[in-house]
Amino acid sequence: MSITLSVHGAAHTVTGSCYLLQSGRIRFLVDCGMFQGSKTLKALNYADFPFRPEDIDFVLLTHAHIDHSGLLPKLVKHGFKGPIYATHGTIDLLTCMLPDAGHIQETEVAQLNRRNAQRDRPQVTPIYTVDDAEIALRSFSSVAYDTWIEPADGIRARYWNAGHILGSASIEIELDTGMKSQPKLRLLFSGDIGPDVTSFHPSPASPENLDYIVCEATYGARERPPLTLSGRRDLLAAEVNDALKRNGVLIIPSFAVERTQELLSDLLVLVQEKRVPQVPIFLDSPLAIRATEVFIDHADELEEGDAFRHAMRSPWLRTTESVQESMMIERMDGSHIIVAASGMCDAGRIRHHLKNHLWRPNATVLMVGFQAEGTLGRILQNGAKAVRIQGEEIKVHARIRTLDIFSGHADGPGLARWVEDRGPVSRGIVLVHGEEEGLAGLHDRLAADGFNGDRIFAPELDAAFDLLAETSGERERPAPRRLQPDIVGRPDWHNDLSKLWLDIGEELEKAADDKARRVILRRIRRALEDENP
Ligand SMILES: [Zn+2]
Repeated sequence: MSITLSVHGAAHTVTGSCYLLQSGRIRFLVDCGMFQGSKTLKALNYADFPFRPEDIDFVLLTHAHIDHSGLLPKLVKHGFKGPIYATHGTIDLLTCMLPDAGHIQETEVAQLNRRNAQRDRPQVTPIYTVDDAEIALRSFSSVAYDTWIEPADGIRARYWNAGHILGSASIEIELDTGMKSQPKLRLLFSGDIGPDVTSFHPSPASPENLDYIVCEATYGARERPPLTLSGRRDLLAAEVNDALKRNGVLIIPSFAVERTQELLSDLLVLVQEKRVPQVPIFLDSPLAIRATEVFIDHADELEEGDAFRHAMRSPWLRTTESVQESMMIERMDGSHIIVAASGMCDAGRIRHHLKNHLWRPNATVLMVGFQAEGTLGRILQNGAKAVRIQGEEIKVHARIRTLDIFSGHADGPGLARWVEDRGPVSRGIVLVHGEEEGLAGLHDRLAADGFNGDRIFAPELDAAFDLLAETSGERERPAPRRLQPDIVGRPDWHNDLSKLWLDIGEELEKAADDKARRVILRRIRRALEDENP
C-alpha cells in the first residue's frame, strides 16, 4: 500500500492551499483554496484542477478563509460528490463568504468582459457563480473540535483549535498503512496558526507524537515583540491620531473575517474612551457586515465576546451595505475612517476608495494584514509613487503605513514553538503557506532547535511525496508543472508592465520639452524593433 501527499497550492506562496492525500483507493483533499497575487498565479483559479474532482472522496477543511476554501464551489461544479467536513463556525462563515466570492467573480468577469469586447479579446466565464456557491454549501458536514471522525475505512481525523479565526482548526489525520512495522501513519496539518494574543481565541492546541507535520510558514521570518491587548490599542491610537490630523481620512484595507472584527472592536473602544477623535467609522463591505453578525452570534464562544458585542452597538459605527451607500462616503467632508475589503487590495470596494484617496496628501492607508507578492497592497507597501487601478494611473501622495498587530498568524518563534510542542516528529516536516523569506526563516529556526534539516521540506507547486518511503531520497517525486517555480509567489510580467507604463509616463512628464519626449519615444520604439527585426 502507498500513501502519497501532493501539494497543489500554498507552495512557496501564501495562497491556494490544497493538499491531495491518496491512501490506497481513497483520495481526499485538505483545503481547496483560491490563489491570490499576480495575474499569472490567479490564472490557476480558471485552469483545470491537477486531479479529477469526481475522484475525490471527501474534503477536510481547516478554516473559512477564501485562500483555503475559495475553490470548493468549483470542485463541486466540476463533479465532486462527497462531503466537506468543517467546524460549525467555519460553515456559518462560509454561508456568507462563498456566495460573496461567487458574486465578486460574477462582477469582475462582467467588467473584464466589457474590456475584452472593446479589445477584441475572447469572453471569460466566472470560475463559479453565487448559485454554484449555494449548491456547494449543501455538501458541508459539521464536525466538533477534539472528536474523532471516520470519513472512510482506515482513515480517522480530529479537529483542534488553531486560534486563527472563528472555527479555524489544525487537522490530525490517522491512516491505516497495512504494514506490521508501522500500522498507522499520523499526520497533522497546521492550517493557519494564530498568535498567542488575540482578543477572541485561546492559544492554539494540538496533539503530539506525529510522523509528519504540514506546517504554515507565513511569518516564519518575523519576530514580533510581545504585545498585550492594551499595548495593541496604544499603537493603534497613535496611528489613528496621526492619520486624522489636518482633516485626514484613514483607509484600512481589511480581511473581512476576524481581522475586521478585532480592529473595529479596538477602534470603537478608543473612540468611546475619547483617546482618538470621535469621527464616523464606515464598515464598507457587505461581507464584513455579515461576518460581523456571525461573530455576534458566536460571541459566547469568543474571549472578550461581551466587550465585542457592546462595541458593535457604538453610534460611531456606520455600515454601508449597498453600492449607493458606499458611493455616498466619497461625498463626506471632514475626517473619517473607512474599513473595506479586500485585505490585500486585490478586489472589492477598497480599490475604489484607494482610487479616490491615494492621490491626496491628507489620506493615510493603514495595512493591518499580510500583503502577498504581486498584490496592489504589497506594491503600495513597497513605496510605489504611482499605481494603476482598473487601467487608470493614480499618483500616490497618501501616507502608506503598516501596523502588524492584528495579524491572525503566529510569528516565527511562535510557529517554531508550536511545532516543538507537537514532537517527536518521526518522518518529516513539510513547510507550506509561505513566501521564500518565511519558509527559509522557519526552516532555520527548526534546524537550530535540533530538527534534522534533511527532513524539513519546502515542496514546489504540485510536488508529490511518498509518505511511507524509508529514505528521504525516495520520498519526493518531481512535479508536473502548472507554473514554473520561479514565478510562484513573485511579481509577474503583468506587474512589470504596469510599472513600465508608469515609469514611461513619469519620464515623459519630467522631460525638458516635446523634443526630448520624442527622443525618449524614439528610443523605446527602437528597442521594440530590436526585439522584432
Ligand atoms: Zn487563514
